[in-house]
Amino acid sequence: MAVVEQVPAKGKSSARTLLLKSPVDLKPIGEIPVQGRAEVDAVIARARQAQPAWAALSVRERAKYLERALDLLLERQDQLLEIFVRESGKARMDALLIELWDGADSLSFFSKHAEKWLADEEVKLHGFLRFLKKATIEYRPLGVVGVISPWNGPFILSLNPTVQAMIAGNAVVIKPSEVTPMSGKVVEDLFRDAGVPEGVVQVVLGDGETGAALVEGDTDKISFTGSVRTGRLVAEACARQLKPCTLELGGKDAMIVCADADIDTAAAGAVAGSLINTGQYCSGTERVYVVREVADAFIEAVVDRTRQLRQGHTGEFDIGAVFWQRQLEIIETQVEEAVKKGAKVLVGGKRNEQLGGLFYEPTVLVDVTHDMAIMTEETFGPIVAIMVVDDEEHALQMANDSRYGLGATIWSQNVSRARALARRVEAGSVCINDMSMTYGALEVPFGGRKDSGVGYVNGKAGLRGYTAPTPVIVDRYGGKYSAGRHYPYTEEGETQVRKLMNLIWGNKISRRLLS
Ligand code: NAD
Repeated sequence: MAVVEQVPAKGKSSARTLLLKSPVDLKPIGEIPVQGRAEVDAVIARARQAQPAWAALSVRERAKYLERALDLLLERQDQLLEIFVRESGKARMDALLIELWDGADSLSFFSKHAEKWLADEEVKLHGFLRFLKKATIEYRPLGVVGVISPWNGPFILSLNPTVQAMIAGNAVVIKPSEVTPMSGKVVEDLFRDAGVPEGVVQVVLGDGETGAALVEGDTDKISFTGSVRTGRLVAEACARQLKPCTLELGGKDAMIVCADADIDTAAAGAVAGSLINTGQYCSGTERVYVVREVADAFIEAVVDRTRQLRQGHTGEFDIGAVFWQRQLEIIETQVEEAVKKGAKVLVGGKRNEQLGGLFYEPTVLVDVTHDMAIMTEETFGPIVAIMVVDDEEHALQMANDSRYGLGATIWSQNVSRARALARRVEAGSVCINDMSMTYGALEVPFGGRKDSGVGYVNGKAGLRGYTAPTPVIVDRYGGKYSAGRHYPYTEEGETQVRKLMNLIWGNKISRRLLS
């Protein structure tokens, strides 16, 4: 049973083809070619040709195309939702909120805000330099950016980095996951139909071979979202070529429930944080640490809420399928191992056989420990795993006992105490009294620490990551004070430099005023 299968080569052709099956009923839903190095190189060459004219437009002119794409996204909602649900088996509301809402928000946000973050920036220089030179930083496009995306948010994780790269003046080549290729392909359709010039946004289809070709090809940056294992390969290949990359990788996000938390709110957060998108959410809650005093009440509330969830694929339901076979096997193996080592299943804990496809029941586990993979390795499934801890310090110690550091959440009615705790959490972002929603807060940088990644998407730092910040420095006096005028060196010159050093740094007042 698999969602992606190799199709035997036809006739003399050596090109590989992949057959896709729906995770809902395992019926075939299409085939894609695996584009190899030569095809990918041709696509990159087209992107390189199209990029200078695109970069020559102002940010405001580029933003108009994003706004048109937003109009199309709104018009095509039903059609897009159908593609996302068919390919992934996710609940319609998951597709609506995570893919379409966030997609619309990204297009609208960057069309509105990119201009100020990409504008030339005048910088006041320090010390004596400020009297002699003027500096401006230009945020210049890099050229051609490769965007490689995973299957869990196949549209938004293809669209959002693309929006940022293209508004910054780059051409983009997207390589969506082979598990959900059409959800990535529609990004190209959207921009083409919005009138974006040919070659500025293109999609290549295939598996790891195609992704590797994009990394090895003539691209200027790789924006990768996916697993730690592949991220490492991408980083190694980029390092060899001295090519910048951002890596948005896996997570094992911790949730800390303090003794003074609002138990109902925290339980709702634990269930939604662990189970939306069938638990296949990079910043989803993967480990819950609840302080002993409130553990019974919290666990009871989590169990109650989880039992109310409806799993399915037609009509109204809350939780859909696991998106592909490989993930289902990871979930099953981790739960089985945890149970063998003493974890207790309070809800679910097995495949949902009644539904036929790749369905795993929403599950609540307690008595889990850090000797179990379910608390140390990414699960990416519909599991709420709860560990009771002595106090908040114990919770913090457990939360930081991880090779991952993507996000974390803290639940407490005392916000200043929660903030003090948040400061000590080793994670790329922390949310207090809400499930992780940092990716949707487009003003702030999103990225991971430890094995969870390198670099940022979103916010000023993320957007500028698609540029080469280039300082242009102008002598205020037409070159009168250029460094070259003091060369070759003279004794008099040395005396002047020493005098100047003493003048600037010789006492506290001059240090403050002149340095
Ligand atoms: P994956 O690493 O298997 O694949 C990701 C993409 O890389 C796919 O398009 C794949 O075809 C491509 N690829 C595979 N081998 C490659 C190679 N050698 N060179 C270049 N590209 C290659 O990841 P996945 O299973 O699709 O996605 C799930 C993972 O993504 C989870 O670990 C999840 O936590 C992570 N994720 C992270 C974020 C984040 O923002 N941090 C967001 C979503 C998902």
